[in-house]
Amino acid sequence: MLLAGGTDLLPNMKRGQQSPGTLVSLSKIGSLRQSSNGSGLVLGAGLTLTELVENKSLCEMYPGLWQAASVVASPLLRNTATIGGNICLDTRCNYYNQNEDWRKAINYCLKKDGEICWVATSSKTCRAVSSTDTAPALISLGARVRLVSAGGERIVEMKDLYQNDGTEYMQRRPDEILTQVILDPMANWRSTYWKLRRRGSIDFPILSVAAAIRADNGGTIEEARIVLGAVSSQPLLSSEATEFLIGKKLTDEVIEETGRIMAKIAKPRGNTDLTPIWRKKMVPSFVNHALRELRGDNVSKLRKRIAHQARN
Ligand SMILES: Cc1cc2nc3c(=O)[nH]c(=O)nc-3n(C[C@H](O)[C@H](O)[C@H](O)COP(=O)(O)OP(=O)(O)OC[C@H]3O[C@@H](n4cnc5c(N)ncnc54)[C@H](O)[C@@H]3O)c2cc1C
Ligand code: SF4
Repeated sequence: MLLAGGTDLLPNMKRGQQSPGTLVSLSKIGSLRQSSNGSGLVLGAGLTLTELVENKSLCEMYPGLWQAASVVASPLLRNTATIGGNICLDTRCNYYNQNEDWRKAINYCLKKDGEICWVATSSKTCRAVSSTDTAPALISLGARVRLVSAGGERIVEMKDLYQNDGTEYMQRRPDEILTQVILDPMANWRSTYWKLRRRGSIDFPILSVAAAIRADNGGTIEEARIVLGAVSSQPLLSSEATEFLIGKKLTDEVIEETGRIMAKIAKPRGNTDLTPIWRKKMVPSFVNHALRELRGDNVSKLRKRIAHQARN
């Protein structure tokens, strides 16, 4: 397996969740650590999340991605964690992210070494949760990634990179290295990222909303992408919400209805922190917060309050 910052892969290996025969470190490949700022932005997959957070162009041009990168794990982890590793992050589940003895006691599970999914016992597919913060943001921004192997290279849209299977959660082949994240110029777009978690300082998302819209001077929406994270085995982009929003202004009623549309596609299960019913109920609220921010409402106090409530 490929090893980038190792902040996910190495703990997983210690717990026996992942047991590659060979590790190939990417850390000395200089080209993976380059970024170029032309009309858009190209980010090397080996850039750390701290480097992204310190990138002023990223903050100005793609605030949704900047916000997502800045709430991954903790500052110490972000100093090592890479954007490539975050995009390829393993899916998570309360029955899987456990030590070897714990998993052995339940006879393991479908994702590794076992035959049954303890979350959905009749399911033939693992339902582990997509827990990456940056992927929903990148999908909302229409980003693409470059995948390189000995056989050649291809560019894949972020929205097509994942599939709803907790084991085979990516379209990336094992021999492909994700080398670059490509962001097109986004004049007149606004973007944001909202993350729900128990502790405001260091938790994986248990729900996230990434939203990006382009509106004309009068505020009528011309393009929109709203994405949910951490409520399925892949980030969920809603085509219904896009169709609903185009041609409308962000009135209170439009925002409320978009929240209802997004809640329909959220499928949280009982395999992460807090209850699935409550997480689903929070979807309209978080869509509401995100769209109000994009409308220009001052939501800074709300952001702080959510971080504070989460901690308590
Ligand atoms: C306490 C703790 C809290 C965390 N909280 C969060 C959180 O809130 N949000 C979040 O998103 N993550 C969180 N993480 C997970 C992790 O730190 C981040 O996702 C990080 O960005 C992973 O990057 P990495 O470079 O360390 O990846 P690695 O651990 O090196 O790799 C992760 C996976 O990606 C693959 N990979 C890495 N780079 C490439 C590449 N260039 N091409 C192809 N495959 C590649 C690896 O083979 C592996 O499968 C947390 C981790 C810990 C320990
Ligand atoms: S969702 Fe099911 S198969 Fe997947 S990790 Fe959890 S218990 Fe295992």
